[in-house]
Amino acid sequence: KDTAGAMTGALTYKNMSVEDVMTPMERTFMLDVDDKLSFEKIAAVFKTGYSRIPVYEISRHNVIGLLFVKDLIFIDPEDEVPIRSFIQIFGRNVHVVWPNDNLGEVLAELKKGKSHLALVRDVDNEDDTKDPVYVMRGIITLEDIIEKIIGDSIVDE
Ligand code: ADP
Repeated sequence: KDTAGAMTGALTYKNMSVEDVMTPMERTFMLDVDDKLSFEKIAAVFKTGYSRIPVYEISRHNVIGLLFVKDLIFIDPEDEVPIRSFIQIFGRNVHVVWPNDNLGEVLAELKKGKSHLALVRDVDNEDDTKDPVYVMRGIITLEDIIEKIIGDSIVDE
């Protein structure tokens, strides 16, 4: 649409970092690994419209896998399948990035991977009486970066 806008986006994104474009924790839809895929849960997932859902255990700061929404077509809500038996456990191909990682580098990383989604993780060492702990700051997808490059919102599907 706007060529000048796209060029500005393309020139500036390389100097930006993950936290500038990520979807923050508060707006990230996740599932609890100890929940079951009931009719209501499945409906809630479909309603979000997202294709990948981070799955956490005990705390939202402890994401242990990703649920691919397209896989839900194989399940019967009557069975109330445990989410645990459903997720793809994190392997090498799921990315974790730092909030201040450079967007240009993360773009290259995400393109290599399969899921095009990364968790944005940070270390909290504010309280020096305690051990530093990992905290989740949000998620970032290929689309978040592309949007920044184009300098405009992509109309999704
Ligand atoms: P999808 O294919 O699920 O629509 P995209 O990669 O196209 O996801 O990303 C679209 C926007 O939605 C991005 O801003 C991304 O950060 C955000 N997003 C993706 N998955 C989730 C989720 N589970 N919860 C909240 N936001 C999400």
